[in-house]
Amino acid sequence: MSVLADNIARAEDYLARFREMGVMNHIAGASVAAHSGEWFETLSPVDLKPLAKVAKGGKADIDRAVAAATEAFRTWGKTPGEERRRILLRVADAIEARAEEIAFTECMDTGQALRFMSKAALRGAENFRFFAQQAAGAEDGKALRTETQMNVTSRRPIGPVGVITPWNTPFMLSTWKIAPALAAGCTVVHKPAEFSPMTAKLLVEIAEEAGLPKGVLNLVNGFGEDAGRALTEHPGIKAIAFVGESRTGAMIMAQGAATLKRVHFELGGKNPVIVFDDADLERAVDAATFMIYSLNGERCTSSSRLLVQDTVYDQVTARVAEVAGRIKVGHPLDPATVVGPLIHPEHEAKVLSYVAKARAEGATVAVGGAKIGEAGCYVQPTLFTNATNDMAIAQEEIFGPVLTAIPFRDEEEALSLANGVQYGLAAYLWTSDLGRAMHMTDGLAAGMIWVNSENVRHLPAPFGGVKSSGIGRDGGDWSFDFYSETVNVSFPRQMHKIPKLGG
Ligand code: NAD
Repeated sequence: MSVLADNIARAEDYLARFREMGVMNHIAGASVAAHSGEWFETLSPVDLKPLAKVAKGGKADIDRAVAAATEAFRTWGKTPGEERRRILLRVADAIEARAEEIAFTECMDTGQALRFMSKAALRGAENFRFFAQQAAGAEDGKALRTETQMNVTSRRPIGPVGVITPWNTPFMLSTWKIAPALAAGCTVVHKPAEFSPMTAKLLVEIAEEAGLPKGVLNLVNGFGEDAGRALTEHPGIKAIAFVGESRTGAMIMAQGAATLKRVHFELGGKNPVIVFDDADLERAVDAATFMIYSLNGERCTSSSRLLVQDTVYDQVTARVAEVAGRIKVGHPLDPATVVGPLIHPEHEAKVLSYVAKARAEGATVAVGGAKIGEAGCYVQPTLFTNATNDMAIAQEEIFGPVLTAIPFRDEEEALSLANGVQYGLAAYLWTSDLGRAMHMTDGLAAGMIWVNSENVRHLPAPFGGVKSSGIGRDGGDWSFDFYSETVNVSFPRQMHKIPKLGG
């Protein structure tokens, strides 16, 4: 049996329970169908066949989940940080123990290639481990002395929070938002993306088996405008952590306005990789192609715009085209696959629509640009050259294995192109000139900038974007700021003079 056939058979074993029972919601420690009794289907992008039915949650289910999270918060919010740390470390171990099941399920549900998903499952465990280690200090604050007063700050968990996640790397992103919330002492209602619901169910089951008390993490599946909306409007939910498209973020902000929701947004990107002619061009090409063609290009920090100095533009784009043309597109469970099928036919149609737009606007399709085969959402790794910054392919987030290359003359033009989009999530800069790196990074409007590197994450470092790419930062202590209220208590240090009125 080939490795692929063996992997498909193993994936079928993991999926069997979902095929039989459907993907249920999970509220107050129990698997439950939607209150309405309705279901929707999740398709596999591998062959467009239904994978399982999914509970179609709505307002009634959100109400029940928020009630469970509110009840659980009475205890979890007061559980000592040291105890939360122990439980969350056990969750991390349990995730690691089931990493293969998570990765195989995710590959079939999202189309992401196993070579990346096996690492994403482990990164999920790492997220839990990292935030668990900080749980004991989550309430710590500062002592701020004046001559007469001692101000002591501390943080308190804000309450039950809503976490809304997208479909691109659902397990990793869910843990990235949920782990710090739980470590801070919040309880959670999670609404995963309707295109990729499966691993969220695995996460809540794994967490409870590892000792997370019932009701601390609840799961409601359903559509954004329905279950998602109800979660953002619920008065019992104190904050919404959202990862998804910028326009959805704007809707969530409006929906949460009446209940004064705190929001944390990780949104879209159109991230430039800027290559100067003094850079190590081979490393720059490796990094740029990795950042756009890994994870199917369905990645918020993908390097979707390649800005190359005109002196080396032809050389660099020729090399990128060569790499893109050699990339293996195939079944996500094939260990050799780099690019798997895109998440859904709707998304595939969106990605392919940019090929027509590129041609209409006068760009060149240097490589790729077509669908592969009939079954499944397979799209060729694509490179557009001869593009200008005003074209749709340079301005809009395509969210597929599609790269737009634009030449620039000098630093000034590179900055103006890099910053000339509505987004500002990540930027990648390639140069061997330290002074240039310093002032270019000063001028780049992005929340995260990597110099001479692809995206290499360090969990204590802040993650987030500027402009339409987001609000707030995650990582390190920044996450705890979001999931906590900071309270200041002031004590007199001496018998200071209090103004006497009316005497
Ligand atoms: P999306 O915005 O369509 O959906 C994300 C989630 O929001 C889903 O669970 C959806 O059901 C829900 N939703 C939709 N409408 C809603 C509403 N009115 N109220 C409440 N919830 C609602 O995004 P997507 O297509 O699933 O994911 C792709 C997007 O996510 C891309 O733009 C990508 O850049 C972004 N993303 C950003 C980051 C980051 O860290 N910045 C990471 C990953 C993905």
